[in-house]
Amino acid sequence: MSTPERRLNPTSLLEFCATVLSAGGASKDDAACVAAHLVDANLKGHDSHGAGLLPAYLRHMERGQVNLEASDQVLADTSVILRIDADGGWGAPAGQRLVERASAKAREHGLAAATLGHVHHLGRLGAYAEQAAAAGLVSIHFVNVTDHAPLVAPYRGTDARFGTNPVCIGYPATATRPAFLLDMATSQIALGKVRIAANRGVALPSGSLIDARGMPTTDPSGMAGFELEGALTPLGKHKGYGLAFACELLAGVLGGGGTIQPGTPRRGGISNGLFSIFIDPAAFGEPDWMQAETDAMARYALASPPMDWDSPVLYPGDPERAIAGKRAKEGIPMDEVTIGQLNTVAEALGVAERL
Ligand code: NAD
Repeated sequence: MSTPERRLNPTSLLEFCATVLSAGGASKDDAACVAAHLVDANLKGHDSHGAGLLPAYLRHMERGQVNLEASDQVLADTSVILRIDADGGWGAPAGQRLVERASAKAREHGLAAATLGHVHHLGRLGAYAEQAAAAGLVSIHFVNVTDHAPLVAPYRGTDARFGTNPVCIGYPATATRPAFLLDMATSQIALGKVRIAANRGVALPSGSLIDARGMPTTDPSGMAGFELEGALTPLGKHKGYGLAFACELLAGVLGGGGTIQPGTPRRGGISNGLFSIFIDPAAFGEPDWMQAETDAMARYALASPPMDWDSPVLYPGDPERAIAGKRAKEGIPMDEVTIGQLNTVAEALGVAERL
């Protein structure tokens, strides 16, 4: 039986998250930025990366697994390369600063590569691609995840050896079409979706999970509460496995924070590595032709007759836009188990607000 839900006002949820993060020790600016990132993920339909993460973030603060006094350490800053070590600080503010600085390089030189190492959870990667796309830039991002136990089995393996290592590509809007956004975990499903399914009491699609013996299961309960008994499976067999591996190499090795191999610390927190490329499309061709060609390609793909007329072909990024419009009006649905967890965290910190 699934758990009851309520619809929450996005502004109230944002204020609640910011208040709780401040009460936990985050600076006012960081609390506001992280809270806005979480609620934006809820608005875009990615509840796995939304306010439901607050209890985990609070745990990380208590245990010193996020550095509240962090300051960006610039490891390299050339015309087209930016390497930052985030000093264990919050993901959303460090990620936004990196995009801003690398975007300026890409605008000037046509191209820039940037890395971020030792950063707390970056959350929904699409947010950074949206930031770049809003500045007229193409961007490509690879992320790896360390500081906690691996979650995803390699193709042909029976235990977890990788994070859910997301890959993301953003491409700016044309005059008639909004931005393209492909933002995906390289596991069949994101870990947070297992947590949400466990809280809602619903089964997961078959093929997305194996149990502690390496056998297929649809029961998410073994991985609720971030306790791992089993593993997620990689997206598309060897292909997702290969992409997850590429994230370890690009984000973990080039990013400087290390890979998920056991020599890298696992303190029970979440640390991300990021490798990003930013491209100014104007450096690669004539803008009017590129816009017309982008529109023509999108029209062509989306005109494929759908198998089900209620589910037409979409442009990647459309699902997030559609749900954001709906949730901004109707509120963010949240199950009572997650709401209870957030209220418990607030109470423990002496915060008076309740959801
Ligand atoms: P998803 O499967 O919901 O969506 C993947 C992509 O597919 C999106 O770009 C979406 O726009 C597109 N899409 C969805 N349905 C579509 C359709 N019918 N037609 C065309 N395009 C469609 O995403 P996910 O794999 O569950 O990832 C969820 C989030 O988790 C992402 O935002 C990712 O960045 C985040 N994540 C973060 C970390 C981290 O450590 N920071 C780790 C893993 C995942």
